[in-house]
Amino acid sequence: MAYEPIWMNSGEKLNKFEFVKMQKDGLDVIRDIIETYSKTGYDSIPEDDKTLFKWAGVYEQKPKDGYFMMRIRINSGILNVAQARALGEIAKLYGRDLMDVTTRQAIQYHWLRVEDFPDIFKRLEEVGLYSYEACGDCPRTIVGNPLAGIDPDELMDTTSLVDEVNDFFLMNRDFSNLPRKYKMSISSNKFNNANAEINDLALTPAVKVIDGQEVIGFHAHIGGGLSAKPFLARKLDVFVRPDEVLKLAVGVTTLFRDHGYREKRHHARLKFLINDWGVEKFLEKLEELLGPLERSGEDRTEGWQAAYFDGVHPQAQEGLNYIGLNVPVGRLNADEWLQLADIAEIYGDGRIRTTMSQNILLSGIPNEKVDEVLEQPVLERLTPFPKHFMSRSVSCTGNEFCNLAIVETKERARRVAQYLDEHVQLDEKIRIHFIGCPNACGQKHIADIGLQGALVKTPNGMIDAFDIAVGGILGPNARFNKTLKGRVKGDDVPLVLEQLILFYKDNRIEDESFHD
Ligand code: SF4
Repeated sequence: MAYEPIWMNSGEKLNKFEFVKMQKDGLDVIRDIIETYSKTGYDSIPEDDKTLFKWAGVYEQKPKDGYFMMRIRINSGILNVAQARALGEIAKLYGRDLMDVTTRQAIQYHWLRVEDFPDIFKRLEEVGLYSYEACGDCPRTIVGNPLAGIDPDELMDTTSLVDEVNDFFLMNRDFSNLPRKYKMSISSNKFNNANAEINDLALTPAVKVIDGQEVIGFHAHIGGGLSAKPFLARKLDVFVRPDEVLKLAVGVTTLFRDHGYREKRHHARLKFLINDWGVEKFLEKLEELLGPLERSGEDRTEGWQAAYFDGVHPQAQEGLNYIGLNVPVGRLNADEWLQLADIAEIYGDGRIRTTMSQNILLSGIPNEKVDEVLEQPVLERLTPFPKHFMSRSVSCTGNEFCNLAIVETKERARRVAQYLDEHVQLDEKIRIHFIGCPNACGQKHIADIGLQGALVKTPNGMIDAFDIAVGGILGPNARFNKTLKGRVKGDDVPLVLEQLILFYKDNRIEDESFHD
């Protein structure tokens, strides 16, 4: 039975987009794309429907002349070889060979046309992958521990839990009209591999003694998110057993759906409801919905490794290794990707894993095969032993393709990292993130050095510039970085960062790291 959309009669003023969503469920646009727009072409798509294309996982690409970008959701970032090959083939056939790894472990294509979508959807579905609801006001890609199942630092393998929650919410019309986007993470890794604090709902490793037995489960954190008003997720006083994860996720999402704000788009994320209600009231409402919940146990998050894994590392399974590759600013071509799929099949466990730092892991490599894998030509550029600054550079899409961007980011981030690697010697890896507008897809707030695109006026007109913020970190001491005074012209960024890092190098006290 369909649920009652209680906000429609709540008396709350609704923003314009809510009326578009009331006229048509975002999921209906997928059928219209397949049956109609793919045949009638770009010019035939009504504007309202174009805004609903997000539910199909696609956005219009800049400059809105008929091309689209598409995100593919990947549970925990873990793909099998058949899935990886299908993704590479789609990039070759339709996406001009370009593949971006996003900060939510998705693969993003560019240059797609609406005529291509039915075949892309079909190719994805054949291998159990979807772009549906990778964007839009709905539960999006569920991020997780890319090392799930092979991780010496996880309390339990969370692969099937992420799949279970994903399968419940994907294309579920009871949850396809939320007030705004909704992001979940589920990980049992002790070093916060899924960046818990910046999700609407995050499950992190915990244990609790219940009836004399130590039970492995999760703690829940709610209301995290970035953009112009960033919030760190706050801990709910609950302990969640693995078999209750889905129930909790349904409860939290239901409260957001029914009580989240729908008046202003920029004030609609769950974080604003949590900020007003507080976690205690939220928990009361959750227990009214779900019945009594177990109180917290003992946290098992020990630190934060920012989802970086470069190098060769032993797995939980004796004699096997995973290899963390650097994908400079998350961009690779389809041939490189397909070569990685071949390596995964020939030498590894047949898995390719994407990380929230926009990188890729190969896994299941036996000790005796490691050297052979390291000699593969594709690992020359996608190296497991990257230079320091290139290894820690993250960038959003920027104005090359994104309609919301104020400045170019991706190529600039790559050039800045290259410059710093050539000019600065440092025994520490500093994380540098670029974003092209306040929406923060490149997660600027959690970087050691975060750069946000802006414009400055000069005698020759407006030019690209950046606000610079320092000191972001997640994990037990989580905090967002703080913006420094002044705005730096785009061309001056390499020199300014060089000076900033050298000042730190010359003045740091013993054992101090950049985020201290
Ligand atoms: Fe586009 Fe802004 Fe997101 Fe960058 S941060 S991809 S510019 S919306």
